[in-house]
Amino acid sequence: MLPVTLITPSWRDVRRAIEIAQRDELRVVGQATINGVQVFAVPSRSHTGTVHLPYVDAASQRVICDCEGYQYRGVCAHAMVATRAIIAEAQTVVDAMRGQGLPAVTPAEQHREAV
Ligand SMILES: [Zn+2]
Repeated sequence: MLPVTLITPSWRDVRRAIEIAQRDELRVVGQATINGVQVFAVPSRSHTGTVHLPYVDAASQRVICDCEGYQYRGVCAHAMVATRAIIAEAQTVVDAMRGQGLPAVTPAEQHREAV
């Protein structure tokens, strides 16, 4: 992946990116792990028929996108859609573990982890 100067996004831009993703019903249309890097394909809003490729950057622990908006704001709708997919995937793992009868986290344990 190309080196990217990471910008810390403002909350306003994060919220806007989430709103755009919801409004335009952006979805992950493809997913692959390339050289150990999790890459997502999310349709471009401005160029019909093309996709942007947000990916998980292990070093920064962030989802980075190749679109122009991300370069300026450090966040974009594509990165938010990929993040949502990652969270959904994690939730699937958690649900599967619950299905195996593993002990659920008690409120007391939750409190301990939060402190
Ligand atoms: Zn993007």
